[in-house]
Amino acid sequence: MNEFDTIAAISTPISSEGGIGVIRISGPEAIEVADKIYRGKQRLCDVPSHTVHYGHIYDDEDMIDEVMVSVFFAPKTYTREDVVEISCHGSIFLLRRVLSCVLKNGARPADPGEFTKRAFLNGRIDLSQAESVMDLISSENEMAVKNSLSHLSGAMSTKISSIREGILFETARIESALDDPEHYDLSGYSEELSKKLSEWKDVLSDLIDSADDGATIRDGISTLILGRPNVGKSSLFNLLVNKEAAIVTSIPGTTRDVVEEKISFGDFSLRLMDTAGIRHTEDTVEKIGVKKALSLIDDASLIIYVVDGSEALDDDDHDIMERIRDKNVIVLLNKSDLTQVVSEDDIRGFFDGNLSEKSIISFSSKDMLGISSLKDEISRLFFKGEVENSDRLYITNERQKFELINALGSVKRVNESIASGLPEDFYTVDLMDAYSALGSIIGESISDDLVDEIFSKFCMGK
Ligand code: GDP
Repeated sequence: MNEFDTIAAISTPISSEGGIGVIRISGPEAIEVADKIYRGKQRLCDVPSHTVHYGHIYDDEDMIDEVMVSVFFAPKTYTREDVVEISCHGSIFLLRRVLSCVLKNGARPADPGEFTKRAFLNGRIDLSQAESVMDLISSENEMAVKNSLSHLSGAMSTKISSIREGILFETARIESALDDPEHYDLSGYSEELSKKLSEWKDVLSDLIDSADDGATIRDGISTLILGRPNVGKSSLFNLLVNKEAAIVTSIPGTTRDVVEEKISFGDFSLRLMDTAGIRHTEDTVEKIGVKKALSLIDDASLIIYVVDGSEALDDDDHDIMERIRDKNVIVLLNKSDLTQVVSEDDIRGFFDGNLSEKSIISFSSKDMLGISSLKDEISRLFFKGEVENSDRLYITNERQKFELINALGSVKRVNESIASGLPEDFYTVDLMDAYSALGSIIGESISDDLVDEIFSKFCMGK
């Protein structure tokens, strides 16, 4: 246990008012500080741990708020220190006033992420778990929450620790044999080690491979809505944004020709872009919009190509299909509520078999038909349809990915040393490099500066 001073912060969002707001205090004097401003039936230093108490907060003789106070004595707390949480009414003004009272009575303002940093420094969680706390707070969809919770529960740390233990065991074995060749025999050992290396390589490669999907889960699938004018692109965009978006974030930097929103769409997020209708035109302004829409095709991960099923395909449609032929495409045959003149076969012919059966969806923005098929198809294209039942662990953190790549590189070098017939003492250097790269993922033997940098990215009060 490290000895720290007592810190405090508003731990609930301060960007808007809520029913309640929480001030958290942690440190050796947390209870004492709270007792100075709290009046209730009992002094907080006399109550049992993990209990909640009704009372009032006073600034000298001024009653500030009616509160519930939760008291947690170390070590079974978030930070492993004494912790007090004061639940006040959720006015930002009030929360600031209670916080300033707490600070006046002996606590100091917490730095961003400082509570979680203490949980890490006091050994309650490792660094990768601490990072997942930050991911969890910023999660905007079901998959991101699920993944962050797996990390937080230690799924990743367990994999890393198990490989590290293996590496340490093998290194010790080699060192012992080199020190005492009479008692330890290394004949046939290379094959044995190769097997272990290939197991570790598989685990590390799998984690590294998961990072692409991890980024998609975290940042959303960049999705371009394309189609001729008047086919229903904006209706689709508005439908998805208004009906599906638990979270709608306007993304800055978009031109007036492209409207972009981040929405949570079922279990994942989409960065949805609505573009100008594509057609041959002589209108200068319209031309700019069309050019902009076409320029986004390359970078989009998914194209939702909207077709008006009640009107025959024309040259503009052919042109669009030509351009998106090799992309991840879902075709929405929109306006299915009207008599249909476009068939799936009309479309499929253009894609030369590049389009799966389910990638053409009969859709109606007007009657809201086809949304769940669209969700299923996106899930199939991006997560092999395993969104709901998948227990796959995704890497969403660039720092962790970087260290995994380092560790994998070192493991591969041991393999190369074996293949080149180099003596065993060559193996240990690379093995220990892998050991330390993996160690820095869970926060063993990393510098104080790096720890400070990681936690400074946290939000206040966590
Ligand atoms: P955009 O130019 O591609 O963005 O098309 P809009 O979304 O502005 O829609 C063009 C017209 O088609 C509007 O009058 C919409 O009300 C209509 N529309 C859009 N979707 C549907 C649909 O599913 N069924 C019907 N009947 N009309 C639709």
